[in-house]
Amino acid sequence: LMHLTRKLIEIRTMLLSIDQSDALKLPSIVVIGSQSSGKSSVLEAIVGHEFLPKGNNMVTRRPIELTLIHTPAKNGTIPVEYGEFPGLGTGKITNFADIQRTLTDLNLAVPATEAVSNEPIDLRIYSPNVPDLTLIDLPGYVQISSLDQPETLKEKIAALCDKYIREPNIILAVCAADVDLANSPALRASRKVDPLGLRTIGVITKMDLVPPEQGAGILAGNRYPLHLGYVGVVAKSQGKKASRDSTAVVAQKSEHDYFGSHKDIFGTSTSLMVGTDTLRRRLMEVLESSMASSLHGITNAVQLELEEATYQFKVQYNDRRITAESYVAETMDSLKLRFKEFTQQFRRPIIRAKLKSMLDDKVMDVLEQLYWLDKRAPELGVLGADPKLKPEDVEPYWRHKLEAASSLLTKSGVGRDSTLLVADGLRALIDSIAAGEPFTFHPRAAERLIQFSHMILRDRIGVTSDQVENCIKPFKYEVEVEPREWEVGRERAVELFEKEVEMCETKLKDIRKKVGGGRRLSGLIGYVKTLEEKQKEKTLKRLENGDADPTAAEVEDTSPESYRYPPAQVMDARHAMLYSDRLSILKLRLAALKSKRCKAGPQSEVFCPEAFLNVVADKLAYTSAMFINIELLDQFFYQFPREIDSRLLYDLDRSEIVAFARENPVVRRHLDLQERKDKLEEVMKQLNSLSTLRADPQPTPRRQ
Ligand code: GDP
Repeated sequence: LMHLTRKLIEIRTMLLSIDQSDALKLPSIVVIGSQSSGKSSVLEAIVGHEFLPKGNNMVTRRPIELTLIHTPAKNGTIPVEYGEFPGLGTGKITNFADIQRTLTDLNLAVPATEAVSNEPIDLRIYSPNVPDLTLIDLPGYVQISSLDQPETLKEKIAALCDKYIREPNIILAVCAADVDLANSPALRASRKVDPLGLRTIGVITKMDLVPPEQGAGILAGNRYPLHLGYVGVVAKSQGKKASRDSTAVVAQKSEHDYFGSHKDIFGTSTSLMVGTDTLRRRLMEVLESSMASSLHGITNAVQLELEEATYQFKVQYNDRRITAESYVAETMDSLKLRFKEFTQQFRRPIIRAKLKSMLDDKVMDVLEQLYWLDKRAPELGVLGADPKLKPEDVEPYWRHKLEAASSLLTKSGVGRDSTLLVADGLRALIDSIAAGEPFTFHPRAAERLIQFSHMILRDRIGVTSDQVENCIKPFKYEVEVEPREWEVGRERAVELFEKEVEMCETKLKDIRKKVGGGRRLSGLIGYVKTLEEKQKEKTLKRLENGDADPTAAEVEDTSPESYRYPPAQVMDARHAMLYSDRLSILKLRLAALKSKRCKAGPQSEVFCPEAFLNVVADKLAYTSAMFINIELLDQFFYQFPREIDSRLLYDLDRSEIVAFARENPVVRRHLDLQERKDKLEEVMKQLNSLSTLRADPQPTPRRQ
């Protein structure tokens, strides 16, 4: 049977890791008692070491799940005693003072506002001097609340104890001999859940503090009978007086002396149970028989749970097993794949078109600055329409204009702007990948992904824009245009102008609708024009008089006319005037672009700056795209998948891989169920091996 308890203690630990439901619980011994009843002393006497937190204040703030594992002597050598905290990964601790310190720290880590915590501390002690037992040490019942303890403390502790003293656990009710049993909160709590004392053992401490006859009377248990009986102990630890190693020995000796000197009363002939050794044996017996009687029920329960888990695993996942590692690897692979698909958007023709459209905008800006706002702009059309006029006979004014326009375009920072345009595209792509599934579940990985890709880009942007700028340098001095290029540029210019015309017309239409029709708009415009005239006159007069600044009244214009239209409409009228001015010049230029003169070819560049600038923009786009491809895109596409490996994948250790996989709820559920099934299978295997060990094997239950 020894073997059985030990196995079942192992199984109990496994079951606890599967879930906390009461159905899957094997019994443990729960130690309750009021503060100072001698609870700690009893536990330490059982273990044979001082290891529990000591102090005047309440020190047990969390339940301690204490598992004792008997390590028998092998070939005459006595194994070393040690403890370990599986939850902390501390490894073997051979010095029990260190165990005590760790427990004290864990207790003190519970915030003062909470006072007690329900979260158990897992402690295992391996020793040749302990029996196989599981004990749960709970905070002592508080008799009188002191000032620095929260009001609710008493109830909190009571609730915690109530949770643990439920079936199938065995209750170890610790009471001091010198306190009336009627006042024992431990016995009172036990009676509520176990009125006959079928699973309650009474431990009477401090037997040395009452006359032996009185002590014996308590142990007889006539007043408060317990089916499992009472055990009397003298468990006073000698504290600092003795050296650590001999504490238990000294304590045991004093107990021995005490009961020895009262043989007449506690002698072997009586049926009274006294002494720590007796208590240990009693606990083993009780736990063993309780475990044995739980075996059948727990086997049934585990079998049911296992069948359910197996069924669910089949239905939900078709028995497909996954590992955290495979999930991580798949995620990285699909990330690379997705990235590769997206890189199609960065093929050279597409990049070239994007750059061209950026440069088209620049061309329009240059044209507006240098031509459309020029009062002489209409002249250019007139000159171009004259078939006798040779390009070289045109005033130098227009030639300068064309040169200025061309260099404004080539010196507008094309290297930087085009590089940034593409880099922004890449950044947006990465951001969109990072914002999508499955990275929504992995915020830290997403952040890293963004970080390192931005870093690669940062490293390349400077080099690339310098390189591009360098390569377009020749265009800053001279641009040679082939007839074929000219025609393409001209057509493109026509296209852009037609679009611009359309845009201006729509805007005008919108304004007309907004102010209430064409007539009203004409009225408004007429009004704004007279206002402007007046303003001009005033300024002229002021200049004649030598007044530098207009008077406040003039600025505010309080004349009655200014109230004829609301300011917003005056604003609309001004916009409308701008658009119609723009329209008339656009239409003139469009006619020029479609004229024979412009169609003739590159020799007409001075008459048709729009076509010329378009060709320049085209050349800039082509060259930029080529070098951005080499310096930025190729580099990025090469480095990115490698960075995924080195910064996202190889960086993770085993526990981080698991943590990563479990961030995804779908994967977490899958892993949880799979683990649950595996553990239940393992438990079931162990339970089955136990029943074959037993003389009367229980038939394995089957679900109907
Ligand atoms: P806990 O608060 O219930 O854990 O109680 P402790 O084990 O810390 O004991 C409280 C006090 O009672 C300590 O000073 C112990 O030394 C003392 N004590 C414990 N058991 C005995 C005993 O059997 N005899 C005597 N005389 N004192 C004891």
